[in-house]
Amino acid sequence: MKKNIIIMGPPGAGKGTAAKKLIDLGYVHISTGDMFREAIKKGTALGQLAEQYIKRGDLVPDELTIGIVKERLSQEDCAKGFLLDGFPRTLVQARALEQLTKEINRQIDVVINLDCGEKELVRRITGRRICKQCGAPYHIDSLKPKVEGVCDLCGGPLYQRNDDNEEAFKVRLEHYTKETKPLLDFYQERGLLRNFNSLGSSEVLFDEIAKFLKS
Ligand code: ADP
Ligand code: ZN
Repeated sequence: MKKNIIIMGPPGAGKGTAAKKLIDLGYVHISTGDMFREAIKKGTALGQLAEQYIKRGDLVPDELTIGIVKERLSQEDCAKGFLLDGFPRTLVQARALEQLTKEINRQIDVVINLDCGEKELVRRITGRRICKQCGAPYHIDSLKPKVEGVCDLCGGPLYQRNDDNEEAFKVRLEHYTKETKPLLDFYQERGLLRNFNSLGSSEVLFDEIAKFLKS
């Protein structure tokens, strides 16, 4: 079983959806986006700072982001294996992560890269709805909840993220292309990269990933 993993891919590729399913395999799910949204909801100082960047589609500064990941990854529960979703997104973050995982002896075993092509990304992002309570993702056409506006898993209300519009998406995709995509080479060089096409159904994708992780 691969223990410590990173899920990468452009916004809308399905990182969060895959990650939420992989929790069942025993991974601790660490999503920097979820952590920031939680901080915003609570109105903490971190949340107030991060919100300015997030709503425009910009990246939250490395220092802040690396700080919250360091704290989280060092916690006890991550010893059983963790799944990083949305981190690292820059070379500075990737290097900091490499350093940290060495220090705490929790090295990355594999980097899963999801991609499905740009056209599909826009469709997914603009139609995406999220559970306010548990963060589960839905889509207005292709992943409808049983009851409109209500989460299947926890009964919470669904909402649209304020960065899930075409304008902020464009900015996010630009950041991805310029800052995050180069990380694929970084991890390829280290022999850790594994690509998956996420255009098809999320069930099929999940089965493929699960099989790979168990191999
Ligand atoms: P998605 O992958 O769908 O774009 P996330 O939930 O991973 O969304 O992230 C939402 C936003 O949170 C990002 O657009 C960015 O502003 C901020 N963010 C999340 N993770 C990072 C990170 N590692 N570095 C900088 N900013 C981040
Ligand atoms: Zn929910």
